[in-house]
Amino acid sequence: MKQVADGVWHLDTFFLPNSINAYLVDDVLIDAGTSHSTTKILKQLQGHRVNTHALTHAHPDHQGASHELCENLGIPFWVGERDADAAENPDLIRQRQPSHPMARFYLRIFIGPGHPVDRKLSEGDEVAGFKVLDVPGHSAGHLAFWRESDGVLILGDVLANIDQLTGFPGLHEPKPYLTPDPVENRRSARKLAALEPKVVLFGHGGPVRNTKKFVDFVDALPA
Ligand SMILES: [Zn+2]
Repeated sequence: MKQVADGVWHLDTFFLPNSINAYLVDDVLIDAGTSHSTTKILKQLQGHRVNTHALTHAHPDHQGASHELCENLGIPFWVGERDADAAENPDLIRQRQPSHPMARFYLRIFIGPGHPVDRKLSEGDEVAGFKVLDVPGHSAGHLAFWRESDGVLILGDVLANIDQLTGFPGLHEPKPYLTPDPVENRRSARKLAALEPKVVLFGHGGPVRNTKKFVDFVDALPA
């Protein structure tokens, strides 16, 4: 694991570095890669205290190993209130994705089993010193985690800092075929840009430590 901010470590959950990220924030594991990520995640967590697992959103490349990790580590599962039903019942993840061959492909290869949610998170809750923000669009119950004191933002898939098909770095909106409501997602991106974060940590791609670059990208998005 690599420390990317005070008390925040980056984990790779996939063989390509930075392609599918998770983060350990104090003792909270945020996101869990794919159904093939369990061993890779457990290896990186060795020697670290993990007491809770939380999700940015219930999609197959974030909840894939959630069930196995919660069982293995004996820790509770915290999910945004409007994604909690999907985190418990992956059929709902399927139903809420756009009907597109790529969405079906990712579901088939990555999705993990459901797992009972112990706590439903919503705007204003606190997780490991971060404030929970509701940022729907990429999923109904998508969350971001914001620490105002040093401007660290964990934004899941509201935006990506890699092209998920080519692997080239750069800021992008999430793929439309994996995003049920792109207009709502852009509203969420503008809400996050208004915070003027100093460090932005993504579900996909490396960190952005340039506030202007991030804010300018969001400003240029269509309404
Ligand atoms: Zn994702």
